[in-house]
Amino acid sequence: TPGAPSDFIRDIVAQHVAEKRYSKIVTRFPPEPNGYLHLGHARSICLNFGIARENDGQCNLRFDDTNPVKEDIEYVDAIVADIQWLIAGWADHCLGFKPKGAHPARITTDGRPDYLLAAVPPGPGTEAFFASDYFEQLFEYAVTLIEKGRAYVCDLTPEETDQYRGAPDQPGRDSPWRNRSVAENLDLFRRMRAGEFPNGARSLRAKIDMASPNVWLRDPLLYRIRHIPHHHAGDKWCIYPLYDYAHCLSDYLEGITHSFCSLEFVVHRPLYDWVLESLDLPRPLPHQYEFGKLLPSFTIMSKRNLLRLVQEKFVRGWDDPRLPTLTGLRRRGVTAASLRRFVIGTGVTTYQGIVDLALFEHVVRDDLNQSAIRRFGVLRPIKLVLTNLAADEVIECEAVNDPQSAAPSSRKMALTREVFIESDDFAEIPPPKYFRLKPGGEVRLKYACLIKCEEVVKDATGQLVELRCTADLTTRAGGPNADRKVKGTIHWVSATQAVDAEVRLYDRLFTVPEPASEPDFTTVLNPHSLEIVTAKLEPALATATPDERYQFERLGYFTVDAKDSQPGKLVFNRTLTLKDTSAK
Ligand code: ATP
Ligand code: MG
Ligand code: MG
Repeated sequence: TPGAPSDFIRDIVAQHVAEKRYSKIVTRFPPEPNGYLHLGHARSICLNFGIARENDGQCNLRFDDTNPVKEDIEYVDAIVADIQWLIAGWADHCLGFKPKGAHPARITTDGRPDYLLAAVPPGPGTEAFFASDYFEQLFEYAVTLIEKGRAYVCDLTPEETDQYRGAPDQPGRDSPWRNRSVAENLDLFRRMRAGEFPNGARSLRAKIDMASPNVWLRDPLLYRIRHIPHHHAGDKWCIYPLYDYAHCLSDYLEGITHSFCSLEFVVHRPLYDWVLESLDLPRPLPHQYEFGKLLPSFTIMSKRNLLRLVQEKFVRGWDDPRLPTLTGLRRRGVTAASLRRFVIGTGVTTYQGIVDLALFEHVVRDDLNQSAIRRFGVLRPIKLVLTNLAADEVIECEAVNDPQSAAPSSRKMALTREVFIESDDFAEIPPPKYFRLKPGGEVRLKYACLIKCEEVVKDATGQLVELRCTADLTTRAGGPNADRKVKGTIHWVSATQAVDAEVRLYDRLFTVPEPASEPDFTTVLNPHSLEIVTAKLEPALATATPDERYQFERLGYFTVDAKDSQPGKLVFNRTLTLKDTSAK
């Protein structure tokens, strides 16, 4: 992965490094475990881990798990696996983990929890950071805010709270509960925690300014009551902190120096600072910086929308290779290196625009063109009989595996009396300038010899049965007529040696560039996003492995489906075609 070019965020960090403002640069990637990671998250991952990597720093994977309603342990596990895959060999040495079960020691005036001093490599006995591990500490901070007269327990219902907050262009109204005494607030807040009140009956709010032009500062909620167990914290809590309260303090507790988030949080930044500054904390405070989200065309990014595609079975699960999820892209054959190259190449900016998906596909093709092993496969086979070869005759041909390498290697392929060719490579009534096979015409079977189509055999219904051809063996490599040229060269596999495989051909999931701006994005799904064929593959592919990438010559890039493929029952995914064939 090439180094990232400079950008406004790197400029800020470089300045802080030059000033020696921090002893170590510490960033975090803070997913909420309510879905799988997607291409957009990759930008945030590469930014946060990239900054840590470039500055000998640390990047914590922290689950922002303060809202148990939509969260699940399945997502926690999947997110850890996806991140480890994406940063392996690149920034995994910057990944901050902690010993399993370690909960933060109380923060005293100058101390910091032991496990924050160093990143522990991930592995058995370690785990990621969880905001929910800080619930006890966050509760104490809330008590401090109450004691300082900066937070109060409010009895307005959620609907009333919205009404009092008002519209952005006019001031809101103070809650009737705003001037409760500190003693009463402390008592009620402790009783909220003790479970004395039902969901929504009370909340803890910051006392800021109901007239602020920034609605996020109109006494925002800090805690609400939710009688629901938590996937990580168990059933210990029935009050849960809100994002704006928990996030800045989690950053502080982990010693984060730079907290990067997407642009929609610009308006939350004053609140981020307000919470931290209100507490008179002893250590340096983290700061929030915002960048534009990555929004590729022809797909959707939000986890909520991806969840709908999964739940309503428009796709075959979160790891469906048509989805822009990291797990889907990996299954499709996209390498971690090309994903990183793409997101780093699109840069970080202060504006947000749609990025052409073709740009992503271009980067993936470029990478696969370098790494993929060349093989022959026929997706839609028609049979061709070489009438001048005996039934048991085998002619060995030498085929190149890696023409892109400095010292290419080769393999043997068997030319036999019966072979399969692509049905596309034959036209009974050829259009003008058709250089593939036609009645009476000649083509080269790549790495073998020229053949001539002598006869087209059909059944009673007019269906093509086979093509009967003659092979000119004098045109083989090293033969006297090896140099004889024809305009068409096609791929083929031996009918007696080929192996069958299910091949899944993917196309873009949506037919329009911005499906998310449709009233209902499920109405613009591409009905042809998945086509399944039974292909004939050269026998060398029988032992193909999911960590290898293949180019089926003339067809595209393919990979073994890690989930469904079995020995003797092969399944391949087409990552991409060789060229961009999408309508422009
Ligand atoms: P979604 O809307 O897809 O659910 P989210 O922002 O709610 O996204 P989080 O789990 O909170 O998802 O995201 C973790 C981090 O990834 C956040 O810092 C968020 O800003 C960042 N992020 C999410 N989507 C994108 C994107 N499309 N481009 C860049 N960063 C993103
Ligand atoms: Mg979020
Ligand atoms: Mg979200």
